[in-house]
Amino acid sequence: MQVIDSESDKSRHDSTASESGAAEEVTQETFLEQVEHMFDKAAAHTSHSKGLLDQIRVCNSTYNTQFPIERDDGGIEVVKAYRAEHSHHKLPVKGGIRYAMSVNEEEVMALAALMTYKCAIVDVPFGGGKGGLMIDRREFSHAEIQRATRRYTFELTRKNMIGPGVDVPAPDYGTGAEEMTWILDTYNSLTSNNPSNNLDALACVTGKPVGQGGVRGRTEATGRGIYFGIREACSFEDDMEALDLEPGVEGKTFIVQGLGNVGYHAAAILQEHGAVPVGFAEIEGAIYDPDGLDVVDVVSHREQNDSILGYGDAENFEDPAEVLIQECDILVPAALEGVITKENAPDVKAKIIAEGANGPLTTAADRIINERGAMVIPDVFLNAGGVTVSYFEWLRNLSHVRFGRMSKRFEQNSFERMMRAVEDVTGEKFDPGVIDEVAAGGSETDLVESGLEETMIGAYREIRVLRERHDVDLRTAAFISAINKITTSYKEMGIFP
Ligand code: NAD
Repeated sequence: MQVIDSESDKSRHDSTASESGAAEEVTQETFLEQVEHMFDKAAAHTSHSKGLLDQIRVCNSTYNTQFPIERDDGGIEVVKAYRAEHSHHKLPVKGGIRYAMSVNEEEVMALAALMTYKCAIVDVPFGGGKGGLMIDRREFSHAEIQRATRRYTFELTRKNMIGPGVDVPAPDYGTGAEEMTWILDTYNSLTSNNPSNNLDALACVTGKPVGQGGVRGRTEATGRGIYFGIREACSFEDDMEALDLEPGVEGKTFIVQGLGNVGYHAAAILQEHGAVPVGFAEIEGAIYDPDGLDVVDVVSHREQNDSILGYGDAENFEDPAEVLIQECDILVPAALEGVITKENAPDVKAKIIAEGANGPLTTAADRIINERGAMVIPDVFLNAGGVTVSYFEWLRNLSHVRFGRMSKRFEQNSFERMMRAVEDVTGEKFDPGVIDEVAAGGSETDLVESGLEETMIGAYREIRVLRERHDVDLRTAAFISAINKITTSYKEMGIFP
């Protein structure tokens, strides 16, 4: 059985809990086994049939391939590539593409399963998928990464594992908008001889730049969703009282591990809303300052110095994991899975662990932290902002029109007419600036952000109700929510009684 990173004991997924919840270290679990373990724990709180639960739990299909990439010096490197499609109960299947040395078949299967549950939790009508290349992108040039991405897209197209109604990738660890553009371009050229396929080709991948069919707000969507999720969790007085915290995000200290797409935007948006960053970790080390840091400044310091270390008066840690155990209210691990294990979990001091990354806590760590009375806001809900806005991008691509294009001016004129009517009745005049501000119709950014906000608030409230009803932690409640919704889909299809 593969483990996430056999070279490092710390990144192994280290234990499991007994059904009674007793602290029992059994075996080292792989990431996939952990996801299945969470599923089983939640399934025990439902009354669905075993056959149906088995169908929801299994990964429907995986594709493994290896192909050569020509290096810039003329040499050849063989790259391993994967795509897993966990569930086809809704189509297309949706999930990111990861470029990292940790990528393997089990990892993409685990991540694809999380995508299935995540989509269900936030009512995004997709099945779950995930893909990846086993490469360290720092070792490859820009041109080599482009060649690898185009070849991977060719392989997916050949296997019918990409397409607007089939399987729609997106960015994940180590990939971004540029890779998505190469995927689109390659898919487009391979399918252009079939106009009925090609009409909606833009929707074959999400997370694209806006000029290439992307939607405004997708880049920061996962981070913004994390902010909305944390804000909602912090809004319940009794939950905060149990943690000895005041309600609200403002003034709360936080630490973020990983200043990539997810971590950077989550940090920037939390800071914008009054939370105080006190620690950041990147691959080369970590910094901590209880008096507060500034995320934009830290990132520009890192760009100028090629390292996060040496920033202002902050304390430096050569081991980035050290920052995970520093004093703060909210800890946001936003790099990779398996970073909080049974070894370091007892030292984690944060009262709220907000999972930005997928699977940052091992099963044992999750249990230790929950037993300590801290709150874990689970990945399967909290980082769903990315797929939510990817769904909006997919809708935009299929409708071939920007959100707000048909409604913005109409809304603006209606609001203005209403304000003029108020002026007529009261005999008072609004300041022209007030009219411009209040009567503005929704732009694409406004609509995407409000759709995301509504999604994250609604999903959190559903999970919280299930947490109370079943007397379980938030993660188990989130999985119960997913299982119930997927069950409904299968029953509506008439496949299961
Ligand atoms: P990214 O590649 O943009 O950023 C990850 C960052 O983490 C990089 O800057 C990297 O240097 C840093 N890092 C790696 N190892 C580290 C370590 N040991 N300590 C500190 N920093 C470290 O990736 P991302 O897209 O931000 O994804 C991060 C996590 O969030 C992954 O688990 C991914 O699956 C998950 N996620 C991403 C999205 C998305 O929209 N991109 C959506 C949902 C979930």
